[in-house]
Amino acid sequence: MIQRTPVRIEARNTSHLPEHGTCTAENQSWQTILSQSLSNPEQLLERLNLPAERWLEGAKSGHKLFQIRVPEPFIRRMEPGNPNDPLLRQVLPIADETVEQPGFVRDPLEENTAIQTTGLIRKYHSRALLMVTGQCAINCRYCFRRHFPYGEHKLSRDDRHQIVTALNASPEINEVILSGGDPLAVNDRLLSQWVDLLDAVPHLKRLRIHSRLPVVIPQRVCDDMLSWLDRTRLQKVLVVHVNHPAEIDQATREAFARLKQAGVTLLNQSVILKGVNDNADTLSALSEALFDAGVMPYYLHAFDPVAGAHHFDVSDAAAALLVRQMLERLPGFLVPKLVREVPGETSKTPIPVN
Ligand SMILES: *Cc1c(COP(=O)(O)O)cnc(C)c1O
Ligand code: SF4
Repeated sequence: MIQRTPVRIEARNTSHLPEHGTCTAENQSWQTILSQSLSNPEQLLERLNLPAERWLEGAKSGHKLFQIRVPEPFIRRMEPGNPNDPLLRQVLPIADETVEQPGFVRDPLEENTAIQTTGLIRKYHSRALLMVTGQCAINCRYCFRRHFPYGEHKLSRDDRHQIVTALNASPEINEVILSGGDPLAVNDRLLSQWVDLLDAVPHLKRLRIHSRLPVVIPQRVCDDMLSWLDRTRLQKVLVVHVNHPAEIDQATREAFARLKQAGVTLLNQSVILKGVNDNADTLSALSEALFDAGVMPYYLHAFDPVAGAHHFDVSDAAAALLVRQMLERLPGFLVPKLVREVPGETSKTPIPVN
């Protein structure tokens, strides 16, 4: 294990325009930060001053099912010594993960049935998901991916060719969503090649990216990334994933500002999670913090019944009540749509709030 160098984000002078990060060959490039992510229970507990006697056994048993992975810039936003920290709860395995619960399954979204060609998932009429990589920068305990840690499998040249052929043959698709895993875990050279391929498909209008990386490692929004974003003819949308306002710090705000300057529309999706954000104060503060940072709330996802994560479950009725409370406190445009993904449906399914 390489010794981590603490990443100084807060210490930076931020009174000037947003800084552009370097992409490679620097001590604190995003790749370095990513490769130095905490990935074992002892390290994580020690880093946050949490007693091993109380937490280690549970952390280890969950870690065996789905490995711990959390990058340093995300850890820095946690409160040391607080086992209920809402950011920590998203990444620290607990003994509850090993308890089986009826109705909580390994593939709640039945993703396997929607594969069009290797790497391309098509469920909805006008959009297709391109699974650029299986890798993520952070392992979120509530994610359905926990049962398919797809690793770093990359698409072959032949897969790429098949994907482009499928897109060219489907004029009704006007938007491609780079997804994964986390598509921004892939290097900019490869992403830039993808963008060139997509640019050449005439009926595509929009490039969408679903990523948590600009939040968990803001240094990811570096010059090489901005250069392919700048070059594409497609309209650009980035959907980030923030569940709690404490995830947004100064470095994240700067990364969002750089993306906005590059002409990217920024949206957020959250998952409603017990013990993390299941109250109207937190969710309202999240919407305000997002808008302050230039991001519009998009979806609030009802919890998917994933095996090993039932301790995060919030009922649809409780979620609907929270959204009603948000409606009373916030302008309409800051209230996300409460939805669930139902296998076989042709869009996300809205959950009625009144
Ligand atoms: C969620 C999802 C999308 C995007 O849906 P929007 O409602 O457009 O955000 C597209 N394809 C798949 C397979 C999805 O799961
Ligand atoms: S896909 Fe998203 S929610 Fe799931 S582990 Fe990766 S970053 Fe977390």
